[in-house]
Amino acid sequence: MKSQPNHPKFERTLVIIKPDGIQRTLIGEIIKRYERIGLKLVGVKMLIPTADLIEKHYTLDPEWRTKTGLKTIKSYVDKGLKPPHTDPLKITAIILKNLVNYMTKGPVIAIVWQGSHAVEIVRKITGGTEPLTSAMGTIRGDFVIDSYKMSDTDGRAVRNLVHASGSVKEANDEIDHWFNKNELFDYRHISEAMLYDVDLDGILK
Ligand code: GDP
Ligand code: MG
Repeated sequence: MKSQPNHPKFERTLVIIKPDGIQRTLIGEIIKRYERIGLKLVGVKMLIPTADLIEKHYTLDPEWRTKTGLKTIKSYVDKGLKPPHTDPLKITAIILKNLVNYMTKGPVIAIVWQGSHAVEIVRKITGGTEPLTSAMGTIRGDFVIDSYKMSDTDGRAVRNLVHASGSVKEANDEIDHWFNKNELFDYRHISEAMLYDVDLDGILK
């Protein structure tokens, strides 16, 4: 690959296989889905996150608390239900507490994927946030039966197997948060010739 760092084929995104993904023996299945589409694994590690790592992860975007609170209120109202609070920040405080509790309970696997439109492609494979409505064929749609109703009733985070960055900016901030520069690898993957090379002159003898 010619080095043009702004080319879309260099885009990177963060995936975290959450504690439930590991406990459900889905590590291989999850990695397979991102790998077989043509993304390149450029960083990977297993760790038990601290509460601080998780809290900072979710609040890297200063708007996250407000956006998530408003989104949650809307989803209650859309279902004809009364939200637990009218203040979005109070709702997010509960969601964040539950997320910290969930994400620090066991090892997770953090992975950086690189490739053409990595962020959007990974989100497509991952599926929508709430497993009840995630499309079939996606990781969350195929392997989880959880819902906000279930998790809110039991006062816990929704178990949706994976985290995937939501935008290129979020991906860059999250990769910096989870990985040191020397834990990420620049290397050529043989399949990239077929995915990206402009001419395929090398195929015929
Ligand atoms: P994601 O990027 O698809 O994981 O979704 P978001 O970034 O919007 O939310 C991050 C996490 O917050 C999700 O994985 C959920 O655990 C939680 N969350 C987001 N929206 C809601 C909601 O409406 N209700 C509840 N209970 N949790 C939510
Ligand atoms: Mg998100």
